[in-house]
Amino acid sequence: KKLVYHFSEGDKDQKDLLGGKGANLAEMTRLGLPVPPGFTITTDACRHYLEQGREPDQLRVQVTMALRRLEDEVGRRLGDPVDPLLVSVRSGAKYSMPGMMETVLNVGLNDRSVLGLVEASGDERFAWDSYRRLIQMFGKTVMGVDGEAFGKALDGAKAHKGVETDVELGARDLQDLVDEFKQIIANHTGHEFPQDPRRQLDLATRSVFDSWNTDRAKVYRRRERIPHDLGTAVNVCTMVFGNLGSTSGTGVCFTRDPATGKPGVYGDYLSNAQGEDVVSGIRNTLSLDDFAELDPDSYQQLTRIMRRLETHYRDLCDIEFTVERGKLWMLQTRVGKRTAAAAFRIATQLVDEHLITLDEALERVTGAQLAQLMFPQFDAAAERELLTKGMATSPGAAVGRVVFDPATAVAWQARGERVILVRKETNPEDLEGMIAATGILTSRGGKTSHAAVVARGMGKTAVCGAESLEVDRAGLVATAGGVTVRQGDLLSIDGSTGEVFLGELPVVPSPVVLYLEEGLDVALDKVDEGTAEVVRAVARLLTHADGVRRLRVRANADTGADADRARRMGAEGIGLCRTEHMFLGDRRPLIERVILADNARDREAALAELVSPQTDDFVELLTAMDGLPTTIRLLDPPLHEFLPDRAELMVKVAVAKERGEENPDDERLLAAVERLHESNPMLGLRGVRLGLTVPGLFALQVRAVARAAALRVKAGGDPRPEIMVPLVGSVMELHLVRDEADAILAEVRDSEGVDLQIPIGTMVELPRAALTAFRVAEAAEFFSFGTNDLTQTTWGFSRDDVEAAFFAAYLDKGVFTVSPFESLDVDGVGRLVDVATREGRSTRPGLKVGVCGEHGGDPESIHFFHRTGLDYVSCSPFRVPVARLEAGRAML
Ligand code: ADP
Ligand code: MG
Ligand code: MG
Repeated sequence: KKLVYHFSEGDKDQKDLLGGKGANLAEMTRLGLPVPPGFTITTDACRHYLEQGREPDQLRVQVTMALRRLEDEVGRRLGDPVDPLLVSVRSGAKYSMPGMMETVLNVGLNDRSVLGLVEASGDERFAWDSYRRLIQMFGKTVMGVDGEAFGKALDGAKAHKGVETDVELGARDLQDLVDEFKQIIANHTGHEFPQDPRRQLDLATRSVFDSWNTDRAKVYRRRERIPHDLGTAVNVCTMVFGNLGSTSGTGVCFTRDPATGKPGVYGDYLSNAQGEDVVSGIRNTLSLDDFAELDPDSYQQLTRIMRRLETHYRDLCDIEFTVERGKLWMLQTRVGKRTAAAAFRIATQLVDEHLITLDEALERVTGAQLAQLMFPQFDAAAERELLTKGMATSPGAAVGRVVFDPATAVAWQARGERVILVRKETNPEDLEGMIAATGILTSRGGKTSHAAVVARGMGKTAVCGAESLEVDRAGLVATAGGVTVRQGDLLSIDGSTGEVFLGELPVVPSPVVLYLEEGLDVALDKVDEGTAEVVRAVARLLTHADGVRRLRVRANADTGADADRARRMGAEGIGLCRTEHMFLGDRRPLIERVILADNARDREAALAELVSPQTDDFVELLTAMDGLPTTIRLLDPPLHEFLPDRAELMVKVAVAKERGEENPDDERLLAAVERLHESNPMLGLRGVRLGLTVPGLFALQVRAVARAAALRVKAGGDPRPEIMVPLVGSVMELHLVRDEADAILAEVRDSEGVDLQIPIGTMVELPRAALTAFRVAEAAEFFSFGTNDLTQTTWGFSRDDVEAAFFAAYLDKGVFTVSPFESLDVDGVGRLVDVATREGRSTRPGLKVGVCGEHGGDPESIHFFHRTGLDYVSCSPFRVPVARLEAGRAML
């Protein structure tokens, strides 16, 4: 089996085998770009090593062959005493995991070859500096010595000499440091630093393999949902030196600005430097313009290569390069990461440059990126002072006063303050404080921490894992970078970037939302040219998605105002109108009367009073959604939700009794509350069960829908209501509701003299409904999956009780990779969706099937619903554009 590939043997499509770095080094080599020669050890070899605990037998031989070929090619030998070949041993997995795994530079140096390097380079200082870097890196990553030991020795050397920076140390100092470093290794490990170059190479390779399984690499993979069994490739690459004086240097660059998407190259350069120096911030870097002045020839060549790479990859490329004494070398390239704004902008730029098609452009942006662009943002023009930076955990821009404990958060919020809850990390006891807070900031924990999961679940802005922040809960202060914030100070946190600013930054609505709500022209008028390009790009790709998608997109909306907004966001109907809010407020006494009635006449009287206001509700909704399907769900929640709180009422009645001021109405109410009390309301008397036990309730709603439709028709409108029965488990339930409803519809049709076509369907939210879909479809003219309840009833847990209690732990332990309320559990709940859709349609061909849970707005779930053949998804108005985009992407 071939375990080692020369750079000239691979190509960019072999990322599985060669890793991203190796595949792209191979691709650049094939393109004839100046890549230092080398070879790649495959991920197969790594997986074998990780599984068996030792390298595959053939590896040693294959590395020898590749190494000799390399030595012949460059005319030097690894670690030779005369003009030695040196190599870097670099990790590189299929998906980039920046900073997670190891790389060792200058492999091949030892006590003799360092003298050869002095000779060949004519630069004594450089040679000894390279050697001490090798021992330091090797000692740390391969031999497991605490890096601080070397750091201390280095500081000691500088202090001894009375200088500030490494570059001021001379050859002699570095030579002494080499001895000291070797001693440190011997003391810490009981082993000598290995002098044999091949042994150095083999040990470094093994430690790169091992670095796949460090804790931080595992945490990163979990967070990014990268599988744990891929392994990494190892790239062995001829060293080139950016630290050979002022005509040498090293840099990183991008073919366009990855932050804003602005066209034109962009990058940083550092002369007389090696490897990580550029990104480590040890010295201030130069811009590419400065580089152009410093070394026009290399700059020219670099820009030509950038254009070449961008044309080849047809996308933004990110590049690492090094100049060795005026000669340019390419060390890495990949399709670069970018911000959401840059993604949209670059995708459409490339279309305009005729490099990609609109379909391809659509593939390159995501619903998650669009969602990010839709959150309110801090005013870009405002002055800001950064306090710290953490992980972008839950998007949004939140401003509030700092509090350190949940009780204070609740108290301050109650008196009308906006607060930012600042914690080391959160746990279930913080829940109330989190609900009260406008934003959440933690110093520990990543994207699956308790704080992160709960904040995202609540749609609350959060920044987590701001590690430079020291939180002193008892002292009511937090510090970062020497700046202290006290309880009550104002902070502004940006959940889309992870940035935390001192004071109050002004928040402005997203220009993308402005475009959606008020039209392109209005939005473009109010923004700068760069932002305008982003907005235009969003508009263009959304329009394209609309043109290609098969899945329709509706919105969940309960009022005329919601429906209006949904329409502006591009909704093609309402997939779920909840009717419960229509019984609150000043109508609550009426529904109370319905519940308390002890005879049919009282009940009917109360219900009759509700018909007319309920009809008005539906007229409003059907007017807003004229011409579009509007699914109205009959009353779903348990009745006690319309009655006063049990505990409060008990106290009230007891106090009254004490004082001898009994109120019979309150006592009757309390009796009803007691009667309706349930220990598991989620699984209790609700949905269709309510309709079948409280006579006249569903009839009232059906009558109101029918009358509203008739009124709209008479007014010249085009109402398209659909009636949806919730929580059906058996087809019998639906038959019973239908019999009653059909009679009412016929009656209204006759009395109003209007021909009404109002389909009656059901919400599928119980496993039993899904598993008997072939029967349920006999009585249902459409299905709509209520995936929130279906997830709860399939897993047997209630969202309110479990999310804060143990989801973070489950995510941590890998039971879920993502909360099943955020992204549909395809294996379990998804299977029910699939079965029910197929069986429902086998009974009733052409059965219209949609989904109205929150999953309807989740990108991954949308792709699943598309594959499963659903007709539409329905989500909150704000998610509609995201769903339109993803439904388009699902076609590609
Ligand atoms: P990462 O994946 O963390 O970027 P790399 O393998 O790219 O790690 O290497 C770390 C640093 O060392 C980078 O700055 C890279 O450019 C530099 N480097 C790697 N190989 C060589 C080499 N053969 N010659 C000079 N510099 C190198
Ligand atoms: Mg790199
Ligand atoms: Mg439900």
